[in-house]
Formats: sequence, C-alpha cells, structure tokens
Amino acid sequence: MTSLVTHDSFAPPRVEMLIVGAGITGLYQLYRALEAGLSAVLLEAGEGVGGTWFWNRYPEARFDSESYTYAYLFSKELYDEWRWSEHFAGQPEIERYLNHVADRFDLRRHIRLGTRVTSAVFDEKSGSYTVQVSDGTNYQARYLVAATGVLSVPYYPAVPGREDFTGESYHTGLWPTTPVDFKGKRVAVIGTGSSGGQIIPAIADEVASLTVYQRSPNWCTPLNNRPITEEEQQELRANFDAIKQTLDTSLSGFLHQPYDRASTDDSVEDRQAFYEKLWNSPGFSKMTANYSDFFTNPDLRKEFSDFIAGKIRSIVTDPVTADRLIPKSHIYAQKRPPYATGFYEAFNKPNVKLISLKETPIQKVTAKGIETEDGFQEFDIIVWATGFDFARALQRMGIRGNNGVALENAWKDGPHTFMGIQAAGFPNLFFPGGPHGAAANNPRYNGDQVDFTMELLAYMREHGHNVVEPSRAAEDEWSNMVSAMAAYSPFSPEHSYYFGSNIPGKPRTFLINPAGRGVLFDVMTKSRSSQFSNFTMSQAGHDGADDKVALRTGEYSL
Ligand code: NAP
Repeated sequence: MTSLVTHDSFAPPRVEMLIVGAGITGLYQLYRALEAGLSAVLLEAGEGVGGTWFWNRYPEARFDSESYTYAYLFSKELYDEWRWSEHFAGQPEIERYLNHVADRFDLRRHIRLGTRVTSAVFDEKSGSYTVQVSDGTNYQARYLVAATGVLSVPYYPAVPGREDFTGESYHTGLWPTTPVDFKGKRVAVIGTGSSGGQIIPAIADEVASLTVYQRSPNWCTPLNNRPITEEEQQELRANFDAIKQTLDTSLSGFLHQPYDRASTDDSVEDRQAFYEKLWNSPGFSKMTANYSDFFTNPDLRKEFSDFIAGKIRSIVTDPVTADRLIPKSHIYAQKRPPYATGFYEAFNKPNVKLISLKETPIQKVTAKGIETEDGFQEFDIIVWATGFDFARALQRMGIRGNNGVALENAWKDGPHTFMGIQAAGFPNLFFPGGPHGAAANNPRYNGDQVDFTMELLAYMREHGHNVVEPSRAAEDEWSNMVSAMAAYSPFSPEHSYYFGSNIPGKPRTFLINPAGRGVLFDVMTKSRSSQFSNFTMSQAGHDGADDKVALRTGEYSL
C-alpha cells in the first residue's frame, strides 16, 4: 500500500477528487473515481461507512425499497455473492453490506473516518478547492464531490426545555452505536413519520410504557416485508441482466410493474378490490403500481386515502385513537408516505398511548419529562423522530465558489442547480444525491448523476480541461423547470419536507426533481450529444502544475 498524501504544512495533501460522505452514493463515487484512475479520498464524519445506514441505527430501521433494487448493480459478482435475507433488509444487514463493499473493492484505504469538512474554498487560479477538515488538515482537491445526502442533518424542534431533560434522549437520525436498553423503561417518541413508524412498533413490547406524541398523522401502509426464499434468491441471480436493465431505465428506479389501467376503467367495487391488493403489496408499489392516473388525479388519491382510513379504523380498536391516527389535512402522497410493519396494531397494546399535539401541544420539556396542555408525564427516554433539514448538509459545509461567494448565500432562497449535479459559480463542485435530486428510488437516480459526472470528467480529460461548471442558462432552465413542474407534483408545499415545510424559516421551494428520472435522462442525453455544451470548461493549473504531470510523478498517487 502506498501512502495517500504528505501531511507537512508546506505541501497540503493533494488529490484529484475529494468525496464527502461514505453513504451509498459517496462509496459509489469513490469506486467510479478509482476505476477511472483518479486519485481520490473520501472524508466521512462518522466512525463507520454507511451514511444514512450508519447514523439511523434505531430499532427496526430498514429499507422501504426492495433490498436488491437499492443495492449496487455495478458489479455482477457483488450482486451474485451478497444474499439479502429479506425483501426489505434491516439496518444491521445494510451496514454489513456497505462495509463489505468497502472491503471488497479495496475502498477503505481511501476513506478517512471521523473527519468533518469545515470549509471548502475554490481558488480560481489553481482551479481547485482548499478543503479544511476537523483535524486541521488542508486538502487540495481538483474536484469536490459532496455526497452528503438530503436526510443527514437531524432536525430537533425548538421545544422549550429540550436540553433540560436529564434522562436519555436520542434522535433517530443520530442513533448511538452502543445499544439502547428500552426494557422496562418509560419512553416517549415524538414524531410519526417513516422513522417513528418503524421504531414505535419495534419497541412497544419491550418498554414499560410508550407515549407517542403525534403532531400530524400520516398515511402509513404495511411494508409487507418477508424473507427472500431460496427460489427467489435463484431467480434474482438468474435474472440479473433483466433486473439491471429495468432498474437502470425505469422512471421510478423500482421493479414494480406500472399498472396499465386508469381508475376510471374500473367500477367502484373493482377499485376497492384493487386497493386491497395494493394494501397487501410490498412497499412503494402502493404508489408506483397504483392506477395509471394516480399522480394526476387527486380524486383517486382521495379515494385511496379513504380506503386506508377504513383500514385504520378496522385495525385500531379504540375509535378515538383511530380517528386521531387518520390524516385530515392531507391526502395520500401529499407527503412522502411511511411504510412500516405493525404501526397501527401497536396502538392496541395496553402500554401504548397516543397524544395528539394538535389537541394538546407540548408546553415544555423538563428535567423529568414532557408537559402538554393535558398534564405532565415522566420519562426515562425521549426519542426525537422529528426528521431532517433536507439537503442542509451541503449548505453548511462552508463551500465558497468563484469570487469567494458562499454557497449558503447563493442559495438563500433555495437551491439553484443544473440537473442536481452542479451549480453555476461553483466550478468543480458536484453533489449527486443532493437537492433537485430523486423523487424515486434514490440510489438509482444518484448513481445516474455519478455516472454522468464521470463521463463529463472523462470528456474534459480528453479535451485538456480540468475546470467545469454549468452555464447560467442551463442552470436557470433546470431550476425554472423544477419550480414550474412542482405545481404538478402530488407533494404539498404546506405539508411536505420536499418543500422545506418542516423547518421553520426555511424557504418554501421544491427541493427534488418533480419531472423525475425521465427528464433527467433526456437532459443528460442532450448534453452528451452536444459535447456537454451546457457546461463551461477551462484549463487551470494546480499551483502551476498540471494534473497529468502530477500523476506521472506520483504526487497524487495512492
Ligand atoms: P419526517 O417524515 O419528517 O417526520 C418527522 C415527524 O416529526 C413528523 O411526524 C412531524 O410532524 C414530527 N415533528 C416535526 N416537528 C415537530 C414538532 N415541533 N413537534 C412535534 N412533532 C414534530 O422524518 P422521518 O420520519 O425521520 O423521515 C424522513 C424521511 O427519511 C422519510 O420520509 C424517508 O424518506 C426517510 N426514511 C426512510 C426510511 C425507510 O423506510 N427506508 C425510514 C426512515 C426515514 P409533522 O408531520 O406535523 O411535521
């Protein structure tokens, strides 16, 4: 093994590509960079690889995309040798998988754990970033890839007294690596999104009491997870090429077959029978395999919501609790729906209680527990399942582009990007899996962005360029498309965190690509066929040195 870089203060560690974040996207980017012969280092704030799947290790954290559709497809050998035990794998298995990938492809020696980026400043003369990290090291990086994800900055609501609680307090998105002992404890869970939906039933049997503080109910439907049978394991392997083809090209990035009938093709009775089928179908197929007019017909989504409300009433025995669990202010898919196992059933247990914060808001947290308008309750553990500040990680990294402009200032009214890959004025910065990204199975879409970036860099190398940013016109066109198409998205500006609506004071602007993967593919195809004409490219030296010369002399070598 050769060493990465020198660490003396005169010659900052130099690298062609610096990647931030060891989640599924960052690891893939690292693999692709090394495959292309770039010198690359990946910095990760956590003490392990996995990103989301490192930090979110709360009980029952698991995929709600099918395991084999979320996992990597770049290596048939990897796909063949890894046996997912369940259609929707749990966090420990996912973390094992990502560690296996890091070892299998010898990525680990390029990864620096426990290392947080504190600033990244672009120098126009050298065409590179000076990246300062928490241990004081300065990296010099030609290309900076922020694979920092969109759900990586946990959000704690500003509840008075939150810090005063003297019991144990955890956020689902920042879960400790040492096990939390829930046995016999009095536990509060605040939040009933996807994370709350998973942890609530998981701990209900173990705890002495579980009090769920719900501000808004959600349309939670069954994940319908099960083990992958031996026969299915064989099929998954035998059909790799077809599966890969579907996942690489389908608009949703799932294997679910779109349904070819519109809701108007069926009678009311047939629709109810179809909804029953969907209720029993796996994960996201409730959306992706729903009627063909699902995304364009709010009446259909209202009818589907009413069907789910009926299910909630049939499962939850206490009618008042059932009613509180039924959303009244939004219909299905106006928010990203959770998929969980045994969520509604948990509220039938004698030790589980639901508090509706709409009726009795939290007044304060004290040293011993939580006070609502309805009274005070003592707790041993409070779990904050209160979500994330979407795409915030990228903005708080201290990135500065041309003329010292801070990304945070440039995006004070919301992100402006081209394809959710780059931003004008921030040359050589890439952010796959970031804002203006996927509305579907994330790793597939994020992988498309990484692949495109590598094509772009290969083109640049061939043509003697090493600095790239999108043109303002391309960025404006893409960002205007995002704003215009947001109106056609089923997600609601008032309710969905895709608009930043969960964070007080955050600009309300659409944060994902409402036109989906199809439009991303179209724009990528046009860009390729025009020799990437929507990007501005130039050549700069690394303190006067040329990258290729540096590579030959081993300055960047690993
Ligand atoms: P979330 O969906 O944003 O849910 C946060 C919850 O906290 C909501 O119930 C919210 O209520 C509540 N909350 C926020 N502020 C509050 C306050 N001031 N007082 C009381 N309650 C408050 O967050 P999440 O559950 O962590 O999920 C985020 C995303 O992560 C998911 O949508 C999904 O994309 C991903 N995820 C995926 C999985 C998986 O299955 N693979 C699992 C977990 C998470 P309001 O609705 O009223 O704001």
